[in-house]
Amino acid sequence: MRTIKDDTDGISRRAFAKGMTMTTLGAASSIALPGAARAVADPGSATTVHRFEQAAPFPVNAYIVEGQHGLVVVDSTLTDTSSKALRARVDDIGKPLRVILLTHPHPDHYAGLGNLSAGLDVPIVTVAGVNDVARRDDAEKDALLGGMFGAEWPQNRVFPNQTVADGDRLDFGPGLRFTVRDIGPAESHHDCIFIHEGERPEAFAGDIAYGLMHAYMADDRNPEWKRAIALLQDELPEDMVLHIGHGMPVTPGFLAWQDSYLDRFEAAIANADLSDPDAGAASVVAAMQDFLPNEQLLFLMELSILPNAERLGLLP
Ligand SMILES: [Zn+2]
Repeated sequence: MRTIKDDTDGISRRAFAKGMTMTTLGAASSIALPGAARAVADPGSATTVHRFEQAAPFPVNAYIVEGQHGLVVVDSTLTDTSSKALRARVDDIGKPLRVILLTHPHPDHYAGLGNLSAGLDVPIVTVAGVNDVARRDDAEKDALLGGMFGAEWPQNRVFPNQTVADGDRLDFGPGLRFTVRDIGPAESHHDCIFIHEGERPEAFAGDIAYGLMHAYMADDRNPEWKRAIALLQDELPEDMVLHIGHGMPVTPGFLAWQDSYLDRFEAAIANADLSDPDAGAASVVAAMQDFLPNEQLLFLMELSILPNAERLGLLP
């Protein structure tokens, strides 16, 4: 398996992104028309991307990619209610579910897989690294999140049943063709993205960027995350639409904002007096809200302060 971490030069030379059809975003752009972001029609390929958002207790996206003859779902949300609603949306559309793709092993993306796939013989596909981490960490997540979310924490969790490798092309019929990109450690211990082939370049990018929301950095992989951002900035066409795990779609230019967010977070920790843990954490929160003045997913950033302070050698 080729990952960004292991083979920088190989990745930079990879031509898959540049070989894709490059078009500029037209009037149907999901960026230009906020109301259209939930269901963006692509007349050329007859593909529609439906953004499905879990609203409570916090926002997280899954996607239904609707081709002429079938559906592909990317990620599954977290809660019991939301993942069942996602499945109901799939059933409402009424086309066969060809595959479920998983971008990374965080519970807000995989915990709903059981409800989404219930009663269906459907492949659940990701790269080996994502599969390994999801299975490895599930007991720990179960202990933690079972208490946090109660009945909304799905008990029928399942895991990917097929793995693919970097550069693999996945073909589920017209409008449903993807290229796999194995990112390695980034926002989570192992991330991947799926690049959809069509008239307009777009990718299902997981949590490689958060759409103007605070970020989860408690896997303590910020150096690898920044490296992944730099490589994707080099590699992805600038007009590619990135369908991300939290918030509205972005383009690769937005990755610079995410990179700044990670820098600001480290600077805020370095400037905090952590000899008083509560006051120190409060100063980090204040600094990050100065940079991004909202409370969206703020708790994820707060969970990240101690692990990163430890990594940086800043705990008293
Ligand atoms: Zn997420």
